[in-house]
Amino acid sequence: MDYSTYDNEINFLEVEHKYMRTRACIKCREYITIHPNNPINQNTLKSFDKKHKGHTVITVELNEIKDQYQKF
Ligand SMILES: [Zn+2]
Repeated sequence: MDYSTYDNEINFLEVEHKYMRTRACIKCREYITIHPNNPINQNTLKSFDKKHKGHTVITVELNEIKDQYQKF
């Protein structure tokens, strides 16, 4: 079995669960979920970093912020 393909399939589904890690901007109250093996997500993360450059960005679990933050 090719596990790298398996990982990608899982990531492309972008299933969100409460213990998923997210990057969140405290200033703008926006977050993005982190999918380490998903190239599309890597690009979105770059866009997120660009938009929130100079802001306070934290890494937290989704369940800690999802009620107060907007999805990027
Ligand atoms: Zn920001």
